[in-house]
Amino acid sequence: RAKAQGKNYWKVYSDQVDDTERSDLSLESAMYEGIENGEFMLHYQPIFCTQTGQLKGAEALMRWQNPSRGFVSPMKFIPLAENSGLIKILGAWALRSACYQAKQWQEAGLKDFYISVNVSPRQFVQEDFLDMIHKALNESGLLPGNLMLEITEGVLMENPQRSGAVLTQLHVAGVKIAIDDFGTGYSSLAYLKRFPLSVLKIDKSFVDDVVNSAEDMAIVGTILSLAEGLNLLVVAEGVENDAQLGFLRQEGCNLVQGYLTGRPVHSDAFKEKYMA
Ligand code: C2E
Ligand code: MG
Ligand code: MG
Ligand code: MG
Repeated sequence: RAKAQGKNYWKVYSDQVDDTERSDLSLESAMYEGIENGEFMLHYQPIFCTQTGQLKGAEALMRWQNPSRGFVSPMKFIPLAENSGLIKILGAWALRSACYQAKQWQEAGLKDFYISVNVSPRQFVQEDFLDMIHKALNESGLLPGNLMLEITEGVLMENPQRSGAVLTQLHVAGVKIAIDDFGTGYSSLAYLKRFPLSVLKIDKSFVDDVVNSAEDMAIVGTILSLAEGLNLLVVAEGVENDAQLGFLRQEGCNLVQGYLTGRPVHSDAFKEKYMA
């Protein structure tokens, strides 16, 4: 009886594993098809100066709308694309599209506008990563100083030696680097001074409760003074209400991004909303 139960247990367990693998596989092949069929696109979320209210840039965020699956969250498909290697194709496409779009908006009147593009760990260690960046810049005509790459702390920590070399070359080329979701990964403060960074993005989880929680206030305050001392700009992400914005502005946070000031939207809507 115990044996039967055990067997039963394992059977159930292994079925679950099979199901997960199967659905990952089918999602993966749906992604391949989706790339061919043009189901992927970028949305853009505005980033504003807290002091002047001026539009400074936008983060490009990938969207996948599949005819049978509907909208699939990047939280779901990005990790899968990472594991399967598809991120190389998607990442290169996102980078090129974002650079072209930013250049177009600049020509239509957005002066000094920057575009922020997420770079996943696997992309960052690609041998041809720097070539890809240069190509996207050259072909679009976007100035390197108007491109910001968002990486996470994990990317830096995994292979600091190599990351340092890549970051240095990007810095020499004039491309800006932001640390995304800052405060949520394992980071070493030493890297903040060693690597040529421009921006820290305070993770939404610290912003959510910053008005009421003494702990979050302390964390955000510490990130802001750290950034000031290291000469970095700070973007607060996930700002949803006026109280948060008021606090961040008062504490000297330079830039904000969130549903309060603007959700991620299609490029047409972005143009309509934010361009004269
Ligand atoms: P992320 O880079 O930290 O992007 C910010 C996420 O917060 C976005 O989610 C954005 O829509 C969301 N957000 C912004 N403001 C608010 C707010 O006020 N409230 C709430 N609730 N959410 C807000 P999204 O677009 O679902 O993307 C999730 C993650 O997927 C991104 O987090 C990023 O890690 C990844 N991702 C998205 N696009 C790309 C891409 O092109 N390449 C790579 N490698 N990763 C991407
Ligand atoms: Mg990001
Ligand atoms: Mg982020
Ligand atoms: Mg985040």
